[in-house]
This record gives sequence, structure tokens and C-alpha cells, in this order.
Amino acid sequence: MEKLCLSAYSDIKVKIRMKTVFIVVCLLVLFSCDLCLAKANILIYTKNGKGYVHDNIDASVECLKNICKKNGWDCQVSDDASIFTKEKISKFDVLVFSNTNNETFDTQQQRDVFKAYIQGGGGFVGIHSVCGSERNWPWFWANLGGKFVRHPDFQKFDVKVIDHDNPSTAHLGEIWKWEDECYFMNQLNPDIHVLLAVDLVTIKDEGKKDYPGEVFGQYFPLCWCHEFDGGRQWYTALGHSIDHYKDENFKKHLEGGIKWVLKDIYTDPN
Ligand SMILES: [Zn+2]
Repeated sequence: MEKLCLSAYSDIKVKIRMKTVFIVVCLLVLFSCDLCLAKANILIYTKNGKGYVHDNIDASVECLKNICKKNGWDCQVSDDASIFTKEKISKFDVLVFSNTNNETFDTQQQRDVFKAYIQGGGGFVGIHSVCGSERNWPWFWANLGGKFVRHPDFQKFDVKVIDHDNPSTAHLGEIWKWEDECYFMNQLNPDIHVLLAVDLVTIKDEGKKDYPGEVFGQYFPLCWCHEFDGGRQWYTALGHSIDHYKDENFKKHLEGGIKWVLKDIYTDPN
């Protein structure tokens, strides 16, 4: 009798142990599936209001879609401001505004959704003319980090890499030889962390004595990152021409910007 009891007891113990192993395996499978499903989701947004519209938009979208594909990120492209509802926008990890300009939203409600998204910890990437978007909305300028003022003619100039310790600049040398529109902005948010700056000595421009003048000495910020009002933002003023979106250094620059906003684990390519 005592032996029978002992054997039944050890049977129960084995069953409990097997059950525990089964539960642990199930949890591990569930957890790893959850990790598999945790794909970044990117919105590529290109809406322009009345005014100058860049001809680089299709090329920039193609480039950004390829960056998403390469990294296994989901993406959706839109130039329709009606996507800015709380429900639709909350599924995105980063909103990439590519060459939007002038009125970028149709209604105040859409602006409120965008602001709430950022305040809820959302990610924002701005490329080139995005600094000319929403020219009557100070919060938008602060979120981007600055507001467009003017640019000299498209020309070659030197870009000084201020900080290499960012995935958007780690692949560049000390000086990046570049040809573009050199944007000058005001309303610069003092919290921006500058990554790239133009060497003003290399710019031919009659107007630069009026603005930016001597505000920043020899250099003027062109690309930065920051964390503003609960969100995480990266902006580059570069990227005027269609060909830029086929340039390897520029593609890495954009990819790195999105990765920084996504808090992707930074690895030094060297
Ligand atoms: Zn441009």
C-alpha cells in the first residue's frame, strides 16, 4: 500500500514537471512570435499645399520604400491628410515627411492628431522642404527644429560632420562634398543636437550677409536630431534633386535617420 502510494506520488510529480515544461515552452514560443511580429511600421507622407512642389517626390518615395524593404519594416505611402486620425496614425512607429511643403494638413483636427501622436512618444523624420511646411504653426517648427527662410542657388558646398556618433552620419568623413540647395532656417529650436553643418566659406551667395549673417559664425546647421515634446525627431535639409535619392551616402544618411528615431541598436560600421 505504501509502495503504491509512493509510485502514484512520483507519477503526479512527473506529470507536474511535464506540465511545467509544456507551459514554459508555450510561453517561449509565444514570446518569440511576439518578437517576430514586432516589425516597425513607417508612414511615408508627401502632401504639399499651394506653392512650389518638388519633382523629387517619386524618387524619394522609391528610395524610402527600398530602405524599408531592406530593413524588414512595413511602410505605407500617402499624400492624403485624411490619414491623420488617431486610429490610423497610431499604428505607425515613424512618420517620414518627405518633401512636404506649405499647408501639409487640411484641418485643425488633423494638426491636433499629429501633435498628440508626437506627444504620445511618436517618431518624426523630415526631409528637405519639410521645413517649409506649416509656415503659420510655431509648434510644427519647434517639432522639426526650425523654419525655412531662404536658399542660395543649387551649388557644390562642403558639409562638416559635427557628430559621427549617429547612424545617419557614421559612414561620412570629416567633410562631405555635396551639391544641393543650402537651406537657411530660423526659429531654430535650441534643443536640437546638430549632426551636419554647411561650411559657409564654400557657399557663393550674395544674400548670406543678410541671413544667416554671423549668427553661427562659419557654419550653419543642416541636419539634427532631438527629442521634443515627448517625441523623437530627425531632420535633414539635404535632398533637393532626384539623383540624391540614388546616392549611396545620402541613402545611408536617410536610413540612419530613421534608425535613430526607431532607437535601433547603434553599431559602428567600422
Ligand atoms: Zn529643394
